[in-house]
Amino acid sequence: MGFTLWNDKIVKDDEVIIDKEDRGYQFGDGIYEVVKVYNGEMFTINEHIDRLYASAEKIRMSIPYSKEKLHQLLKELVEKNGLGTGIIYFQVSRGVAPRAHQFPEGDVKPVLIGYTRENPRPMENLEKGVKATFVEDIRWLRCDIKTLNLLGAVLAKQEAHEKGCYEAILHRHNTVTEGASTNVFGIKDGILYTHPANNLILKGITRDVVIACAEEINMPVKEIPFTTYEALKMDELFVTSTTSEITPVIEIDGKFINDGKVGEWTRKLQQQFETKIPKALHI
Ligand SMILES: *Cc1c(COP(=O)(O)O)cnc(C)c1O
Repeated sequence: MGFTLWNDKIVKDDEVIIDKEDRGYQFGDGIYEVVKVYNGEMFTINEHIDRLYASAEKIRMSIPYSKEKLHQLLKELVEKNGLGTGIIYFQVSRGVAPRAHQFPEGDVKPVLIGYTRENPRPMENLEKGVKATFVEDIRWLRCDIKTLNLLGAVLAKQEAHEKGCYEAILHRHNTVTEGASTNVFGIKDGILYTHPANNLILKGITRDVVIACAEEINMPVKEIPFTTYEALKMDELFVTSTTSEITPVIEIDGKFINDGKVGEWTRKLQQQFETKIPKALHI
């Protein structure tokens, strides 16, 4: 048993009580973040905290702690749980109130929950690459918010899972948007392509790190959409997220990318990414 962050306190896991009328539970009315911890150190924590507050603002919710306080609480949580390499999951719901769709009136405080999980880096996927499948993007039009409402992503990921694939590559009318829980990049003639960060995708922190990596190795980046047809014609393709890092995609719906081999540009980006990881260890 370990410790959970509950509002502004760190308590024992079994002390947490989730109310049946928590709006996160009933409506998915809330937001979340997943932060990677490498050897006890939180990676890009400020970016994640900034995005959480930005998501909160977009759903007209105000988090009743400062960013500094939240940072401190998360750091304490990692230490108390003795987390080495893994993740922190944390979410904020709009709070507890008698069930009604509209925002609760009066002094209803958002509910914060955070916990950690040991989770090794996905070394085999990073090395060998994974399979993916195209799935229609049926999500709403505010995919830029990291909301607890994940049904569209859940259904897409399940479809991928049933097909033996690691990820669902989502598309709207054949334009690739992103993965169910990742951002999608293609490489053609040495140029890196990814969907622009608008309302149709979640702007991944890892996406930003990868764009920075590309610039550092003098690789041109074009934030323009590509189609499912173009995706299959890319020289290389990969997906990114906090836990997936830079995961090469070597096959989509049975069709090989780069003859089913991880390409050289992807390797270079992975190496550049590696230099940014706190005290990187291969475990
Ligand atoms: C969280 C998420 C990502 C990846 O974001 P990171 O900050 O890199 O972990 C991509 N797409 C969706 C839909 C997500 O929810």
